[in-house]
Amino acid sequence: MAHAYEKAGPIPTLGQLQQGNGGKWFWVHCESGNCHHKAPMAIAPLIIRWGPNVSSDKLRRCARCTKCGHKGASLRAPSYINIQVGVQPFPT
Ligand SMILES: [Zn+2]
Repeated sequence: MAHAYEKAGPIPTLGQLQQGNGGKWFWVHCESGNCHHKAPMAIAPLIIRWGPNVSSDKLRRCARCTKCGHKGASLRAPSYINIQVGVQPFPT
């Protein structure tokens, strides 16, 4: 399973996630093993709640799956679409 943000070395803070990748949001993937649920999550409300200097690892540990209730998730950056659209907009 690919962990896009974890390949880059040190775990980024929420503030760094927001600045990088054009990323205002990201996919949170359930890691229970057989659930495969994923949900989009905006970064801004997390920064309001926890502050920009909190490690994104906190979210990996604290995120709870809304489908199966498993605690623990992986984060994925939204896909890059093309030069006109840029990064995939937040799904509504
Ligand atoms: Zn799940």
